[in-house]
Amino acid sequence: MVGSKDKSKEKRDKRLQEISLLRTIPYSDHQRWWTSETVAVVTGANRGIGFEMVRQLAGHGLTVILTSRDENVGVEAAKVLQEGGFNVDFHRLDILDPSSIQDFCKWIKEKYGCIDVLINNAGVNYNVGSDNSVEFSQMVISTNYYGTKNIIRAMIPLMRHACQGARIVNVTSRLGRLKGRHSKLDNEAVRAKLMDVDSLTEEIVDKTVSEFLKQVEEGTWESGGWPHSFTDYSVSKMAVNAYTRVLAKELSERPDGEKIYANCFCPGWVKTAMTGYAGNISAEDGADTGVWLALLPDQAITGKFFAERREINF
Ligand code: NDP
Repeated sequence: MVGSKDKSKEKRDKRLQEISLLRTIPYSDHQRWWTSETVAVVTGANRGIGFEMVRQLAGHGLTVILTSRDENVGVEAAKVLQEGGFNVDFHRLDILDPSSIQDFCKWIKEKYGCIDVLINNAGVNYNVGSDNSVEFSQMVISTNYYGTKNIIRAMIPLMRHACQGARIVNVTSRLGRLKGRHSKLDNEAVRAKLMDVDSLTEEIVDKTVSEFLKQVEEGTWESGGWPHSFTDYSVSKMAVNAYTRVLAKELSERPDGEKIYANCFCPGWVKTAMTGYAGNISAEDGADTGVWLALLPDQAITGKFFAERREINF
């Protein structure tokens, strides 16, 4: 008898096969809104999914800025792609360091003037396997949530005004889901607040993560209804998911010609340093939905959550 785990594995493998095939189909001229002058920025791109998104976007003919918090490692990573003939540039960027963000923005302004795509990929996770350490909660929330918000805020004024709209893509995770059988969140009050997109604000998301961090500090988080595995990481991604919706709502008020579309996606469980290379898909497959979202010809899609090139529930 085929178990439900086998069935979902079968379904996932089939979808991944379909996507591998879709990736080989070139974009047609009318779908291609970008040129070699189109500039995409990827954070935390010296390795893993970020590096792969740079490679794929450059393969589609965009100019891609590979950023890394470590200068030497980033230069080396960019060199690999430059030697492969890709149009890839490098600049240092640590999303936790306001002066690094400022330097980066200044450099972009001077060298490129503006950007078209921002992919917020940089992230950390200190849970190994099924461990559930909250020891590094502060760092995880600071990097994954506040770091992401800070670079977005700094880059918005540098996003190109164009009829096809600029794009922000946040790399999050299904671990931060609020709804359905896969949700790890038992705290009904938090769920209700984060689910109510009409009244959701950045302040509510900030307050939610602050409350979590307070409970961690006080040692009471275990009875707080927070996810019981990958706790801090899941809370950080839940916050970025919620923030993506708030951001999309705010950006939708911009006039035509100045629109910025913001979406997020889960790459799946990917064989990268973050998972100790224990994932079940390659970085190439993990990067796919992010690249697809960044290049979406139908630009009016915003405030949504995706996986395997399909919309999923938050
Ligand atoms: P990696 O650990 O391989 O890559 C993470 C990247 O983020 C590294 O380049 C790292 O730099 C960088 N980074 C960390 N902190 C900062 C910072 N302060 N400023 C700039 N860059 C920083 O992991 P993945 O490629 O797997 O992860 C990429 C994204 O995908 C993350 O957001 C992750 O949460 C998400 N994700 C991954 C999944 C998976 O299964 N792998 C599943 C779901 C989501 P450095 O090399 O210097 O440490």
